[in-house]
Amino acid sequence: MIGLTDFSRQWADIERDVLEATARVGKSAWYVLGKEVSGFEQALTPWFTATTSVGCASGLDALELALRAHDVRPGDRVLTTPLTAFATTLAVLRVGAVPVFADVDEHGLLDLDDAEKRGLADVRFVIPVHLFGHMVSPGRLRAFASRHGATVIEDAAQAIGATYGGEKVGAASQLCATSFYPTKNLGALGDGGAVLCNDAKLDLAVRQLRDYGQSDKYVHDTLGLNSRLDELQAGILSSALLPRLGAHAKRRTAIAERYVAAFACHARIRVVVPPKGCESAWHLFAVLVKGSRDAFRQHLQQQAVGTGLHYPKLTCDQRAYLGAGLGPVAHLPNARLFADSEVSIPLHPYLTDQEVDSVIAAVHSWRG
Ligand SMILES: *Cc1c(COP(=O)(O)O)cnc(C)c1O
Repeated sequence: MIGLTDFSRQWADIERDVLEATARVGKSAWYVLGKEVSGFEQALTPWFTATTSVGCASGLDALELALRAHDVRPGDRVLTTPLTAFATTLAVLRVGAVPVFADVDEHGLLDLDDAEKRGLADVRFVIPVHLFGHMVSPGRLRAFASRHGATVIEDAAQAIGATYGGEKVGAASQLCATSFYPTKNLGALGDGGAVLCNDAKLDLAVRQLRDYGQSDKYVHDTLGLNSRLDELQAGILSSALLPRLGAHAKRRTAIAERYVAAFACHARIRVVVPPKGCESAWHLFAVLVKGSRDAFRQHLQQQAVGTGLHYPKLTCDQRAYLGAGLGPVAHLPNARLFADSEVSIPLHPYLTDQEVDSVIAAVHSWRG
């Protein structure tokens, strides 16, 4: 079976480096907020438009920390996309803010024009999601933010390494959130996340918030969280994952280019390509299926090709959102098209050329 990820192959590849990092951290006898975390924070930063980064417990927390560092207030309106991991919406709800959902464009990305056309631009924050590894234009985000006096916080959980017009992720915001959940392009062997910062004051605010709101030992000026990245995960990320990220990014791109070329003329599926000018991080390879999505997935399953859905239910249609009493959201035709017809096919750096051939053949043998 060709899956969306292959953690067995990953382990065979990284085992030695992971064990070395584990021994290093064990011997250091220092397990929380030490040299491993600060070293990893420094090594991570150049992947983004950022001057510093702050490790934390998850991508969800990174979003919450960023909102809180910007002094989010209950009731603040936050423009965002409903086509994402629920964590994006959950972070907004957890701080008492109000998600405002715009539709997505043909790339599956937050459609800022749609937001303006429908009068949804009166917001304090914008949280764009660089979905599938494709980037929302930083230029358009900055223009939107200055037109409407909004603060941008990028959700870059899926987009480490992406660029747009040569600009790296993080170029449109002072704080940008990312995740090291194992399936992400830079996945740890457990949970983790980071906030990428372009401002020293905000960096300090995030640093204090992740550690009980502590400004000095036993001095608590704000109500923070316990959202720290472990020394162990930081050591593993530094020694085993980050050094491979460049080569993995190239491999993802090479596979994606083969898929794009192979499926360009397919009558029954449409490839979700990045916007012009964007070099995607190719976290996922998404296609939209015309006809029966279930039949397409079943066909691939029979050819031993695994598939995924990103995402079959919009966050604004989830009971957890509706339960917050904010009322149902109508008129999101593109987002609903994605929710109803998107399928992700295997794209990860441990795929062999032969497996890529098999995936292509399996997709081509589907007649709908
Ligand atoms: C994975 C993901 C998150 C959440 O990250 P966690 O580390 O799992 O909390 C948030 N947003 C997007 C777009 C994601 O893909």
